[in-house]
Amino acid sequence: SLSGKTAVITGSNSGIGLGIARSFAGAGLNVVINSYSDTEEDHALAADLAKEHGVDVRYIQADMSKGDAARSLIQKAGACDILVNNAGVQHVAAIDEFPADKWDAIIAINMSSAFHTTAAALPMMRKAGWGRVINIASAHGLRASPYKSAYVAAKHGIVGMTKVVALETAQEPITANAICPGYVLTPLVEEQIPDTMKKYDMDRETAVKEVLLERQPSKEFATTDQLGGTALFLCSDNAAQITGTTISVDGGWTAM
Ligand code: NAD
Repeated sequence: SLSGKTAVITGSNSGIGLGIARSFAGAGLNVVINSYSDTEEDHALAADLAKEHGVDVRYIQADMSKGDAARSLIQKAGACDILVNNAGVQHVAAIDEFPADKWDAIIAINMSSAFHTTAAALPMMRKAGWGRVINIASAHGLRASPYKSAYVAAKHGIVGMTKVVALETAQEPITANAICPGYVLTPLVEEQIPDTMKKYDMDRETAVKEVLLERQPSKEFATTDQLGGTALFLCSDNAAQITGTTISVDGGWTAM
């Protein structure tokens, strides 16, 4: 049973990370929520989740753009049976105009942070005799789009690293997999809807289906709850032989 185990989720004070935190707390897991900020709301979020589900939820501030901060997040957590590398940022620009500092930040947050947290967490998983590494990649870990060079490079990179972690732990009760979401309805995506409606002079439904979900054949967003459920499945006994692979939650995007 998962009850009593500890999950550390990077970048989890909003969006998909928070959805996974809610699913995990609901399943009886103790959870560590993280972001780079350190506000009252961050800590209140953890306290509310703990109260709602009767589990231990802590907020630990750590900036995933810094390798030693990523490692110290795991040390401060004290236990890490399940590691979800979810922190991620985006910047959109043509490659010859792409700011070098944005490139470095995206590679650090979206990819290298997972190297550091995994390196720190694996010894804990080995000591506990069980572990799960779940990397939140993207359809952009498997496909490309123009103007997203750093994001696509980082997401392909984390898919590659996931396979290496799986091979290095293949004969242990530890698995490593990547979840590849298509478009997920998070506050960030929700914010783009009014602008898109205005820009193309469309109603909400048309803007969502024809512009935002252009590449998602289902014409439906995935939800943060569904991502939480997928992550929870990877923690189950039924998923014990699933390792080194990707699970797409993308409404058919990568079937094309
Ligand atoms: P979001 O902006 O709601 O969440 C990103 C999280 O990362 C936030 O909690 C943010 O605080 C945190 N974060 C950002 N920089 C950080 C840093 N330096 N240190 C620590 N935390 C940091 O966006 P989201 O859509 O929930 O994205 C979560 C993950 O899912 C990302 O890796 C993203 O690439 C991936 N993803 C999202 C979608 C989508 O459609 N929303 C699709 C595919 C993949």
